[in-house]
Amino acid sequence: MNHFPVLHQHLVIVGNGMAAHRLVESLRKLPGAPSRITVIGEEHSAAYNRIMLSPWLAGEIDHAGLLLPSSAAGQPEEVHAAPHVETRQGLRATTIDRAGHQLHCANGEVIDYNHLVIATGSRSFMPELAGLKLKGVGGFRDLQDAENLASNTRKGGAAVVIGGGLLGLEAAEGLRKRGMQVTVLQRSDRLMNRQLDTTAARMLTRELESRGLYIITAADPTEIIGNDQGQVCGIRLAGRTDVIAADQVVIAAGITPNIELGLDAGLDCQHAILVDEYLATSDPDISALGECCQFQNSTYGLVDPIWRQVDVLAKRLCGQPGEPYRDQDSATKLKISGISLYAFGPTDAAPHHEVLSYHDPEQGEYRRLLLHAGRLEGAVLYGDTRMGPWLFQLAQDATHLDGVRQSLLLGQADTEALLTERLTQHQIRESHGEFAGPAHADSKNSDSKNSDSKNNAAAQEAA
Ligand SMILES: Cc1cc2nc3c(=O)[nH]c(=O)nc-3n(C[C@H](O)[C@H](O)[C@H](O)COP(=O)(O)OP(=O)(O)OC[C@H]3O[C@@H](n4cnc5c(N)ncnc54)[C@H](O)[C@@H]3O)c2cc1C
Repeated sequence: MNHFPVLHQHLVIVGNGMAAHRLVESLRKLPGAPSRITVIGEEHSAAYNRIMLSPWLAGEIDHAGLLLPSSAAGQPEEVHAAPHVETRQGLRATTIDRAGHQLHCANGEVIDYNHLVIATGSRSFMPELAGLKLKGVGGFRDLQDAENLASNTRKGGAAVVIGGGLLGLEAAEGLRKRGMQVTVLQRSDRLMNRQLDTTAARMLTRELESRGLYIITAADPTEIIGNDQGQVCGIRLAGRTDVIAADQVVIAAGITPNIELGLDAGLDCQHAILVDEYLATSDPDISALGECCQFQNSTYGLVDPIWRQVDVLAKRLCGQPGEPYRDQDSATKLKISGISLYAFGPTDAAPHHEVLSYHDPEQGEYRRLLLHAGRLEGAVLYGDTRMGPWLFQLAQDATHLDGVRQSLLLGQADTEALLTERLTQHQIRESHGEFAGPAHADSKNSDSKNSDSKNNAAAQEAA
């Protein structure tokens, strides 16, 4: 398969979401982009920043805060023969005729393409539960969902959010801030169980409960109940006789990739549309990216890996050989104002992990790091999270941290000072011919397993 076709013709992109928008913006900046690009988007609005729907629901930003930057509106960064871009809003693509290189749309329109990109994203995963079709039951995925939720909150009343992950908690806090009594139902025994350990999850629960959210963990919803007007009025849980009142139910229990377009066209699919490391599907004239694609065993739900996919695909569509796409870890942040948490890597310590932790319940501070063979593999930070991106970079770079382990809990400045000091000592010893090993190989044993240390203690031990 030629991965680097030069496409001076018609590129059609299905989906006008975050991946599609970023792809078009990238293509505008590259030489050799297709001369004509058509974007088909089912949503009626212009592309917007989906991530900001949570702060929008919480009333922290207005519609202008959802806008995505467009280089088309300003000066292009470099001068190229910019592609002619046409965006069709409120239009659903229904089928792909691969042999005829045509895309069929719900309004009967047929659009010819030379190359097609599928960027159809995901929809809210709907668990098998009676009552999903009742009025007042829905997901939290797009602007329409957010506007529906906001308009329903005007009546006040009770809301139930099914799902205590990132999205569920952001939705719950948004509804609470708009004046609803909100209950969060979490299947696991702790909130954000994919990102947080027990301590951080407990701190988060306490904070949210103190704001007025009602949280039920180990919850197993069995039925959504409606009244005789077909409007939701409650939820039943396994093992409980009472019914939890609900005028509004938000399902935030995961996502289902929108793969039907590719599946019906005979593209290779598993959980999502399969792509190779250059985002090509099993048809060389069709690519896929974002939440609708699957690379090896991974599917996607955060923008970081999608931005890297966009870089790879944009270059490929301009005929430029570039680095192939590779999965990397992503870090998690929660967008609830007044709560700072940052996490990456495994949540639970495995037997091979060395655990470093610092916990100050009074100040609401918690840091827990997981190391293996001298390298950082995971972190959970609650409270002061400023060192999060730096720790994430240390993990990404697989920096060897023996000898500076405890200063990691104190932050970048202390750790870098120690790393520099150790490097200098190593160079001096090397110049005296005393030492021929690597600079980091001076500390092999750890005595800090599961140490709950205060800043001073950690600093002393590090020194
Ligand atoms: C409320 C919320 C908060 C989030 N917060 C974060 C966060 O803090 N950090 C983070 O990294 N990620 C976050 N995400 C996830 C992030 O928004 C997604 O990973 C990202 O939007 C995926 O981009 P995409 O283009 O693949 O899909 P989408 O942005 O969903 O775009 C897909 C588009 O395709 C359209 N479409 C689907 N089928 C068709 C069709 N047949 N014809 C035409 N159009 C079609 C859809 O209507 C949609 O507009 C959040 C998501 C939500 C919903």
